[in-house]
Amino acid sequence: MIYLDHNASTPVRPEVAEAMREALAGSGANPSSAHREGQHERARIEQARERVAALVHAHPEQVVFTSGGTEGDHLALMGAAWGLRERGKTVAISSIEHHAVHGAAAWLKDLGFTIEHLPVRPDGMTDPSIVNDLPRDTSLVSLMLANNETGVLQPVAAVAARAHARGMRVHCDAVQCAGKMPIDTDALDIDYLVISAHKIGGPKGVGAVIVRPGAPLMPLLRGSGHERGLRGGTENLPGIVGFGCAAELALRDLASERTRLLALRERFEHGLKAIAPDAVIHGTSAPRLPNTVNVSIPGARSDHMLMALDAEGVAVSAGAACASGGVEPSPVLAAMGVPRELAICALRFSSGRTTTEREIDDALAAIGRAVPKARALAPA
Ligand code: PLP
Repeated sequence: MIYLDHNASTPVRPEVAEAMREALAGSGANPSSAHREGQHERARIEQARERVAALVHAHPEQVVFTSGGTEGDHLALMGAAWGLRERGKTVAISSIEHHAVHGAAAWLKDLGFTIEHLPVRPDGMTDPSIVNDLPRDTSLVSLMLANNETGVLQPVAAVAARAHARGMRVHCDAVQCAGKMPIDTDALDIDYLVISAHKIGGPKGVGAVIVRPGAPLMPLLRGSGHERGLRGGTENLPGIVGFGCAAELALRDLASERTRLLALRERFEHGLKAIAPDAVIHGTSAPRLPNTVNVSIPGARSDHMLMALDAEGVAVSAGAACASGGVEPSPVLAAMGVPRELAICALRFSSGRTTTEREIDDALAAIGRAVPKARALAPA
């Protein structure tokens, strides 16, 4: 199989699996226990915390472990909005956020908050000046670092500067950026930054929120003092250890992987244009992640391409939502103003650590065979 769906999830790195195996084979003591065995397990968690903090240039005390990006986004958005409710009850999110952020915003709406949606330009980027137009009672602005569908990088630092000047806090979903681009939480000036282990060669079901000291945050899960009282529940020790190991390796390999993935992306995009000169690659006029290509090949619908590529052993994601009996344009592409007939042909190819040049060439050959099949299936 040629796996080009690394934005959905990544294979667990062998070193990570080994670190987790070792953690599972430990004493089994609770990291909160005062005895020596407990403290030994605690030390494993604190070492992972240091490694995760280093990946995003933060201090270990800022790291709050969660069950993943979705919980992290919920904790950051809901916990911050609730903690800041005296300041105002409007929360602004960009219109291209992941479902995890839209879901948390929907909860806030049910709780009586007003949600503002920031538009994006046709190039897929948010215009930072839009922050100046937000209502005065906006307490929190949420903007992702890189979009999961198009890979387009967002002007988070510029948005944060404007938001802070107006007394608003900033949440940033950095799930797709971690391990692919350097992240400096301080330089970006973010109050709440969210990352997830399974996007960087770590296990599924573990993530973190990086919280600026003093930034208000009400815990969603309460009951005990875990994670400095911000996230109750006995820690997922093997998951956290795996996350720490993955973070350390991702930081070590960051520069070399970025260069390698960029070269693969260029090779792939060049090949795509040779197969289908009318192919439209979304977001190319903006800075993008080195591993993500979102492309529409006119007349070749996403669902038909996905099936044809799957039969060829190439795993990718549709850049459109498959609805019963058809496809719907992705809200991200719709927000960018991509015409419907093009948006329903969008496919997302995302490479990663295991992707080789040979796989890119083989995937291109498979795409070349899939396009005429998909075009033949599309309604006139
Ligand atoms: N945010 C973004 C941008 C994502 O791409 C994802 C996963 O696809 C998430 C959040 C959710 O993370 P998790 O799968 O760890 O819950």
